[in-house]
Amino acid sequence: MVGALFNKLASKSLKVAGTWQQQQLRRLNIHEYQGAELMGKFGINVPKGVAVSSVEEVRKAIQTTFPNEELVVKSQILAGGRGLGKFTSGLQGGVHIVKAEQAEEIAGKMLGQTLVTKQTGPQGKVVSKVYLCEKVSLVNEMYFAITLDRTTAGPLIIACREGGTSIEDLAEKYPDMIIKVPIDVFKGITDEDAAKVVEGLAPKVADKQASIEQVKKLYNLFRESDCTQLEINPIAETSDNKLIAADAKLNFDDNAAYRQKEIFALRDPTQEDPREVAAAKADLNYIGLDGEIGCMVNGAGLAMATMDIIKLHGGTPANFLDVVEAFKILTSDDKVKAILVNIFGGIMKCDVIASGIVNAAKHVSLKVPVVVRLEGTNVDQGKRILKESGMALITAEDLDDAAEKAVKALKST
Ligand code: GDP
Ligand code: MN
Repeated sequence: MVGALFNKLASKSLKVAGTWQQQQLRRLNIHEYQGAELMGKFGINVPKGVAVSSVEEVRKAIQTTFPNEELVVKSQILAGGRGLGKFTSGLQGGVHIVKAEQAEEIAGKMLGQTLVTKQTGPQGKVVSKVYLCEKVSLVNEMYFAITLDRTTAGPLIIACREGGTSIEDLAEKYPDMIIKVPIDVFKGITDEDAAKVVEGLAPKVADKQASIEQVKKLYNLFRESDCTQLEINPIAETSDNKLIAADAKLNFDDNAAYRQKEIFALRDPTQEDPREVAAAKADLNYIGLDGEIGCMVNGAGLAMATMDIIKLHGGTPANFLDVVEAFKILTSDDKVKAILVNIFGGIMKCDVIASGIVNAAKHVSLKVPVVVRLEGTNVDQGKRILKESGMALITAEDLDDAAEKAVKALKST
């Protein structure tokens, strides 16, 4: 299928003004209830919980699992900050602690509704499941995370004796209380590492040795499941002296999908950026950011080589249909006020690329300026095709020039 050939043509919407440090998304995000189940499998203490998607299921879960208990009813969306979030219906808070007999009512007010948090953007995310958890009495809330760190080129455990609120706020309020323990990925976590983390958490009542074991289990989960991030906020102490994971945010390396099939089966596309889902269908890599310039850039040479071979064999490169799809996705975002195409024509020649862009620009009625920077084989022919197309395409000499022209173009729209 020709369509699949451009599977590495990446379209990105990059924020040009301001910060550039948006990380490329290469991680699967799973729901809290799924993360909790996984943690349970690794021997980490988690509250007893049941995920439900209807009020009837709430009733059943209460009868069978939580008779006469206080419950935490937690909206399941793939974003944090739920506790302090607000539903578009007006209901305050995506996490509620209630008596069992009130659970149905509150779950009914969450299911199918849109929750807006600090992390969802103003459009919010729809709650299609709620997680019912036993209410454990938390005597102390702390922060725990494992992430991949560039500086130490390996896993880094971050802990703070204060928790419950976002790490950004914790870092601002208690900068000296945040401790970082890099782990040697080859050696694995040592007792000493784990002890340092527990010292940083500074539990008041939890058994120290048992806490060290919990930290080691968390690291094992991180490593064995190919996590890119594991954040438990709060990790808490219960009145019966245990460390318990009262929240779960787990991300996994997309490149490990082949060996983490069970985990990757948990993907919930309804919670993902619809532009990313559309791009994935067209075999494009799309990264939705929040800037104004849509960028289309090419990646894998192999895809282009295949294209070239088709050309060699007399096929026509009208199969830039993927570019049409890419343009459509880019322009479906109203924030995009200009498009920057930056393609290096190596095996795939610039004239072929230029024809594809012109063709795509004709198919999609482009309402925003398009800046094209081509470099590589047959670049002069490519530029001529762009120029002679009569299309409002702005050509650029190099990447600097292209970025400058794109920024200028968007300011004039
Ligand atoms: P987030 O706001 O999306 O991070 O959601 P959390 O899962 O962290 O829940 C928000 C807050 O609810 C937590 O910070 C806790 O203070 C509280 N909470 C969650 N589970 C329990 C529980 O079992 N018992 C008690 N007492 N509080 C809980
Ligand atoms: Mn939390």
